Amino acid sequence: MKLNETQLAQVDAQIKRLIKTDSYYGKIYREAGIDGVSSQEDFDKLPFSSKADLRHAYPLGIQAVPDEEIVRIHSSSGTTGKPVIIPYTAKDVDDWAIMFARCYETAGVTNKDRIQITPGYGLWTAGIGFQAGCEKLGAMAIPMGPGNTDKQLQMMMDLKSTVLTATSSYALLLAEEINKRGLRDKIHLKKGIFGSERWSEKMREYIKRELGIEIYDIYGLTEIYGPGIGISCEEDAGMHYWDDYIYIEIIDPKTGKPVPDGEEGEIVITTLVKEGAPLLRFRTHDISRIIPGECKCGRYYPRLDTVKGRSDDMFKVHGVNMFPSQVEEILGMVDGVSSEYNINIAHDESINRDVILVTVEAEGRVNFDATGQTIKELFKSRLSVTPKITVVPVGTLPRTEKKAKRVIDHREA
Ligand code: ZN
Repeated sequence: MKLNETQLAQVDAQIKRLIKTDSYYGKIYREAGIDGVSSQEDFDKLPFSSKADLRHAYPLGIQAVPDEEIVRIHSSSGTTGKPVIIPYTAKDVDDWAIMFARCYETAGVTNKDRIQITPGYGLWTAGIGFQAGCEKLGAMAIPMGPGNTDKQLQMMMDLKSTVLTATSSYALLLAEEINKRGLRDKIHLKKGIFGSERWSEKMREYIKRELGIEIYDIYGLTEIYGPGIGISCEEDAGMHYWDDYIYIEIIDPKTGKPVPDGEEGEIVITTLVKEGAPLLRFRTHDISRIIPGECKCGRYYPRLDTVKGRSDDMFKVHGVNMFPSQVEEILGMVDGVSSEYNINIAHDESINRDVILVTVEAEGRVNFDATGQTIKELFKSRLSVTPKITVVPVGTLPRTEKKAKRVIDHREA
C-alpha cells in the first residue's frame, strides 16, 4: 500500500521537524542528509527504526519536543537488556485515546457498556490505554488490572461487566474458572477484546463458547502509542487500522524490501502525527499481511490480517521455518487436546540432530498414546518434521497471566 498525499506530507513534516532537534533520529537523519520526502521512492529509501535504536537512545534520547511538552512516559517490557522508554505529549495521549475509542466503536461497544480492564497498569501501555479509550467513549471503566481471579469474577458478576478486555491467555484462564465454578449464568459479558499475543482458533472457540461472547482482536505496541491502533470488526476479516495516524508497510524481513499487498512479511509502522517520539519505518517483527480490497462492513480503513507470529518467534528445525501458530493449528485438529502446549528443542550431539519435544494436554477420555501418534503424523505431513510427543492431562501445563513463552530453544545460538 502506497502513501497517500496527506500521509506523504505528514512524513515530510515529521522529518523537517525532527532534523531541527537534538533527538536521536534528528541526528541520524541530519547525518544521512535526509531533509524530507516528496515521493514514495524517497520514503522507501528512509532508514528503518528499531527497538535496538530505542535501547541505544535510553532513556529519553528519542524525545523530539522540549521537556515541558512531555506529560507521560511508557516503557515496554524488554525481555533482554534495557527497557525502552517512550515519551508522550498531551496530544499523543489524546490521539491514542481517540484511536482506542474508535476501536471500541468498531467492536460495537457503546457508552452504555461496562468494560472490565484486566491488562496491567503502570509503565506498560496496556491497562491505561484500554481505560483512556473507554473514558473517551464514555463507557464505564472497571480498572481491575491483572490477577486476583476471585475478585475479577466477583466484580464481573456484581457490576455486570459487558465487555472483557484481556490478554488471550488470561481470558482463557477466566473462561476456565467460570466454567469450573459454574458461574456462566451469573455473568453478563457480551464482548471480549483481546490482544497482545497470537492465539489458536481452538482457544478462541473455547473462550467464545464458555463466555458466550463475540471476540475482537486488538493490535498495537508500546513503541507506537500502545494497543488500539487497529481492531477487527464484526466481519472478523482482519483488523482495520487507523491510517490517519499510522502508515503500515509490509516488508520482506530478510531483504527489507516492501512486498505487494496480500503477501506476508514483517509489519513496519510509521507514525504520522506523533509528537513526543515519532517513529518512521519502525520494524515491529510481527508477521502479517495487508488484506487487499474493501471490507464487507463498509469501513474504509485498510486491514491487516491476524498477526501470524513474531519474526523472532519463528523457529527452525531441520531447516524448516515454523511459527507457534502452525503448531496451534495442528493441535486444533486433534480431538480432546487443549490449546496449551510447549515445545523444547535441543541438539543431540550423539546423533548430530535437533530433537524436538512437544508437550500437549489431553482430556482423560482420550487415549494418550493414540493422540500422541496422531499429532506426530500431523507434524510430519504438514511441517515435515517428526517430533517426540508427550501427552499430559489437561491442567498440567502452567497457565500464565502474561504472554506465554511456549517454545524453549536449548540449542546454542
Ligand atoms: Zn470491517
